[in-house]
Amino acid sequence: MAPDVVVIGGGPGGAVSSALLARAGARVLLLERDSFPRYHVGESISSSCRAIIDLVGAREKIESRGYVVKEGLLLRWGAERDWTINWPDLFGDEVRAWQVDRADFDDVMLKHAAEQGVEVVHGAQAKRVLFDGDRAVGVEWTHGGRTRETAAGSVVDASGRAGVLARHFRNRRQHDVFRNVAVWGYYQGGSLLPGTPRGGINVISSPDGWYWVIPLSGGVHSVGFVTHQDNFLARRSEFSSLEEMLPTLVGESETVAELVAGGGFQGKVRVEQDFSYSADGFCGPGYFMAGDSACFLDPLLSTGVHLAMYSGMLAAASILSTREGEVAEHEALAFYESLYRNAYGRLFSMVAGFYEQYRGKASYFWLAQRLARGQYPELMRRRSRSEEAPPDAAFASLTSGLTDLDDATRVGGTAPLDAKVLAAEVAAGAADQPIPVRMGLNDLYDATSGLYLVTAPRLGIARAAAPAPTR
Ligand SMILES: Cc1cc2nc3c(=O)[nH]c(=O)nc-3n(C[C@H](O)[C@H](O)[C@H](O)COP(=O)(O)OP(=O)(O)OC[C@H]3O[C@@H](n4cnc5c(N)ncnc54)[C@H](O)[C@@H]3O)c2cc1C
Repeated sequence: MAPDVVVIGGGPGGAVSSALLARAGARVLLLERDSFPRYHVGESISSSCRAIIDLVGAREKIESRGYVVKEGLLLRWGAERDWTINWPDLFGDEVRAWQVDRADFDDVMLKHAAEQGVEVVHGAQAKRVLFDGDRAVGVEWTHGGRTRETAAGSVVDASGRAGVLARHFRNRRQHDVFRNVAVWGYYQGGSLLPGTPRGGINVISSPDGWYWVIPLSGGVHSVGFVTHQDNFLARRSEFSSLEEMLPTLVGESETVAELVAGGGFQGKVRVEQDFSYSADGFCGPGYFMAGDSACFLDPLLSTGVHLAMYSGMLAAASILSTREGEVAEHEALAFYESLYRNAYGRLFSMVAGFYEQYRGKASYFWLAQRLARGQYPELMRRRSRSEEAPPDAAFASLTSGLTDLDDATRVGGTAPLDAKVLAAEVAAGAADQPIPVRMGLNDLYDATSGLYLVTAPRLGIARAAAPAPTR
């Protein structure tokens, strides 16, 4: 029987969207190009992922893997010395996440999706999405040398940076401010800076970029350096190999050198151009682009898996409620586009602000409060243990993905952030690069329609108010 939905890609975006659809009774075919488990970068996941993993029903499986429990982060950033964000201190004991081995994590999540009823085909490469006019109607894919076409009511493109639909539409734009390159490897042994929240990531700035140090299970530390491509290329020519380059870069930071001093470098070094980009449109009739296939953000705040899982969840809700006639398709598309763009735009602004290293944490906290748009006190009432919100609470909520979950589930809906507002929030350099958007405050999404995400009794989109009269 033909599936209701074809999902392309089995990373966090594809695993979450497909599992949620299948749990709600949809027939789902998921095509994954590789054979899992396969290596993937992106080990430090944010606490919103835990809520989504709960919703998918995979918490026990994830907890049984023995990943390092992550309770926040420590930043040694710019001129300021260390400052920490401790999630449980701010938001309570449930707000934790993990530092994961992505090969294992993605494999567990995809197997879980299969257990929910998703038909997963490994070694299956989606060649193109099939269209009837502007409506996606299926996928052409190859497997074992054979080419087939599968018709479906909806297509979720979760193909990551490969971007099957972005390639088709040629609508992916790179943000020139973040033309960065990441180079990283693994150390057996090592340590974190004193005062780091349990299992937290260390983020350490340097004159030419920044380093990450992530504690993984088995005493391994993932250590990476991110810098502008011009600097990377200039430095690369000094070394005969990446294996020679990374330890030297590590040695150039007194802090990072000390952290890995007790550890043994494991040898293999990886490099990736982690240029930030976004597509002009994230969805259309019959299709959704989830995770990195729609947009990618510099990994400074470790938000990629959050954005993938969050958009995977929104795509599933949009498909389910459209199928059931709870909302019209154009409303579901506007809901998806607005919420995913809000999430991406807010974090983009935050990261852009961060790259102005001289600004200092008070400025980042203030930026976070403004990006939370006055919904911050309400958010804190619900999330924080304290009556008075501490100064870092909006920043912590935003960067842990909790603001996005609040945004989606706010009864009565949430108006999209305007691109001009977002651009104005960041420093002059970044404001030259407005985030491409396809919506205005009053056209694509009408906040008065009051749409919001519900997770019970079934995942979907609910409506708080009667639809606004059509103009
Ligand atoms: C240097 C670096 C460091 C990062 N660090 C972090 C971090 O610490 N924390 C964090 O949260 N994020 C981090 N990220 C981002 C994170 O890796 C991604 O945002 C996340 O993996 C996106 O998930 P996804 O499901 O959208 O895509 P992916 O995880 O990339 O999954 C896409 C899947 O689609 C499959 N696929 C591709 N094309 C096809 C096709 N044609 N047909 C079928 N299948 C296909 C691929 O094989 C893949 O399995 C980092 C990224 C970089 C570059």
